Amino acid sequence: MTIGQLFTVIETSIETILDGVGPYLAAVNDPPWSTVSERVRPAERVMIADNMEQSHLDHLVDQLDRADHDTIDMVVGIGGGTALDTAKYLAWRTGRSLVQIPTITSVDAGFTDAVGIRVDGRVRYVGTIVPETVALDLPLIRSAPARLNRAGIGDILSCHTGLFDWRLAVDAGQGVPWRNDLAELGAALLSELDEALPEVHAVSDDGVRFLADAYRRIGAACAEAGHSRFEEGSEHFWAYNYEHQTGAHQVHGELIGFAVVALSVIQDNNPNWAFDVVERSGARCHPDDLGISRQQFDDALLGLADYARAEELDYSIADIADLDLAAADASWKLVEQLPRSDQ
Ligand SMILES: [Zn+2]
Repeated sequence: MTIGQLFTVIETSIETILDGVGPYLAAVNDPPWSTVSERVRPAERVMIADNMEQSHLDHLVDQLDRADHDTIDMVVGIGGGTALDTAKYLAWRTGRSLVQIPTITSVDAGFTDAVGIRVDGRVRYVGTIVPETVALDLPLIRSAPARLNRAGIGDILSCHTGLFDWRLAVDAGQGVPWRNDLAELGAALLSELDEALPEVHAVSDDGVRFLADAYRRIGAACAEAGHSRFEEGSEHFWAYNYEHQTGAHQVHGELIGFAVVALSVIQDNNPNWAFDVVERSGARCHPDDLGISRQQFDDALLGLADYARAEELDYSIADIADLDLAAADASWKLVEQLPRSDQ
């Protein structure tokens, strides 16, 4: 299988794509569902996605009775990360095919095959499902608040810290072997991201296309490799620990953008470049905008090695760095200079 050819991403309108599918179960965020639903072919069932806990998701599955199972052909995710992740879980559990219609580009979830949920607040990947199609309705996506699309830099910028951690792990003889093709993909995505920043900031058609295409390549590469080491490392682990400790749920890409800047300081891995990318993208990543206190930051950072070990996360900078108050100080000094958002 060639990296990048796992599924198709098509530019179309949400009306057109839903006219062409069979009877469907819609897993949605609202907004935009209330307004979108007025102009699309109705769903057989609509489920609001607002909770990724497995117990809640299983409850949704239980609500599908025999009649639904007989009539529903496919699951369609419509919205942001929670809608697309919920759609994955429902399609995977019910054996239905999956169409994803992201209405914002804040996260790569709609383009990846790993079914990620929460169990008691912890991230778990329980299976895989490849979407049949990912449909991009550019006007719909661009009508969302700009910050929710600019947040899309997070899951691409994470290649910066993710690749660094992967190299560390390989050098320490830990985890999956190095692959030059995946490392080159990560590096290419980072340099393309750098070039695309004006379009991303403007949330232009090309900016949205770039983010979606980057996600498609990331998703296909992760599915083929069976892991996501080139784009997920200590920045995601810090974010998971922070969410676990605080129960907070930020827009994923914003939290990850913040975490890449913070962890690149710990890695001594060109943090000013990561800072510059966030700044030029206009993404909302300042700790005050995200509601991240210094104490919460420290707690998630100083406890990162223990958390990663307990969760059996991959080897990363957390396994070798001195994650003490001095390290947190240095990191915080940079992240608190990130631009404030007026959105
Ligand atoms: Zn992510």
